[in-house]
Amino acid sequence: MSNTPNKPHNPYDDIVKTIVTAAERLGYSENDYLIFTHPKRELKVSFPVRMDNGDIKVFSGYRVQHSNTLGPYKGGIRYHPEVRDNEVKSLAAWMTFKCALIGVPYGGGKGGVTVDPKELSESELERLTRRFVRAIYRSIGEYVDIPAPDINTSAKIMGWFVDEYSSLKGYNCPAVVTGKPIALGGSLGRVEATGRGCVIAARETLKKLEKEVEGTTVVVQGFGNVGHIAAKLLYEMGAKILAVSDSSGGVQCDAGLNIPELVDFVHGQKNQLKDYKAKNVKPIKNADLLTMACDVLIPAALDNQINAQNANDIKAKIIIEGANGPTTLDADKVLHQKGIIVVPDILANAGGVTVSYFEWVQNLQNFYWTEEEVNEKLDRMMCKAFSEVWKLSTHEKINLRSAAYMRALEVLVNTKRWKGVYY
Ligand code: NAD
Repeated sequence: MSNTPNKPHNPYDDIVKTIVTAAERLGYSENDYLIFTHPKRELKVSFPVRMDNGDIKVFSGYRVQHSNTLGPYKGGIRYHPEVRDNEVKSLAAWMTFKCALIGVPYGGGKGGVTVDPKELSESELERLTRRFVRAIYRSIGEYVDIPAPDINTSAKIMGWFVDEYSSLKGYNCPAVVTGKPIALGGSLGRVEATGRGCVIAARETLKKLEKEVEGTTVVVQGFGNVGHIAAKLLYEMGAKILAVSDSSGGVQCDAGLNIPELVDFVHGQKNQLKDYKAKNVKPIKNADLLTMACDVLIPAALDNQINAQNANDIKAKIIIEGANGPTTLDADKVLHQKGIIVVPDILANAGGVTVSYFEWVQNLQNFYWTEEEVNEKLDRMMCKAFSEVWKLSTHEKINLRSAAYMRALEVLVNTKRWKGVYY
């Protein structure tokens, strides 16, 4: 295994290897694909924010624009103490491949600020967001680069984002960012979209195995936007959710957790999962949760969670990658050898960018859709991409990740061939 304790895992190396392998399988020359192994533009900014006590703190922020071959750069903004250039670069590249695979006319981008938002008051968070917009606003725009929420960035933050950008431009620009509050031009169904997409991916995988969602046992790591919605929808469809976790730790129940009660406890009453108490519910460490026996495991927290150290111990039959990059390439090989089906992030969590695209289209048209229309269109696009990837993986006898990258690279290279070399 190539991961050594001395060399920290760089997810961008994994992406390049995956692209090269896909290109070789497709018979492409370096001329065809080299551009997709390099981000087109990387912006790093430092910006000051006045804290509530009058002190000034300087924060680092990033926006990486990986590719605009298929359309404007698109991707979320993450607030996290671990945000670094390599991580943002990888997240931006994943977006390029995700958009190509799911069939939305976007390129890939991603951004972030190195900050622990839990340490900021709400007014500090608002000032930080507005200062970050000022630092990057010349590089983004509704036809250039369209941010969205990611870890620790909510609809409210997107609202401040669009307000600051619009004040700088002098007119209302709702389409510059997606994942906004409904009152500011957000789309119905966007908050649930990524979790709903994961559920569609799980449902379609089970269907291929001639199984039903009802009665399926599920474990979810991460109980934020993606994780709690996936858990809630699967619970409503009759799945048994054995364990869920957040950054504070996890809870487990052999008979199945009461997910609506947990959602209310965490999201309604603003508690941490570790403080939840109920009959037959036991605490579980995040590391142990990942290796629990279950039908479906949904890692929906951070990257690099399933790695060379724990891959051999994974007992799930299916992994639906709600998070971006939760499995390292080394671990992926082990999972494949063990016969575990991994629906890769660029497919499993593509529901978010799909409904972000719907939001952008609605903003540009100033014509808004019902939630049923949004969910129906999302289901259709997820199923189409899933079935293409499944078919290719069966035909080529490769895992779903390799097939997904092949399919996405085909779309990118084909478009690039029509466009030419330079834009
Ligand atoms: P979020 O901030 O809403 O939730 C993150 C959750 O992960 C929280 O419950 C947090 O407590 C938990 N967490 C953090 N560290 C953890 C750890 N070490 N162990 C267990 N849990 C931990 O973020 P989100 O929007 O749900 O994003 C989660 C993942 O999904 C990220 O990888 C993100 O890039 C990806 N993603 C999100 C979207 C979206 O639309 N929000 C779309 C595509 C992909």
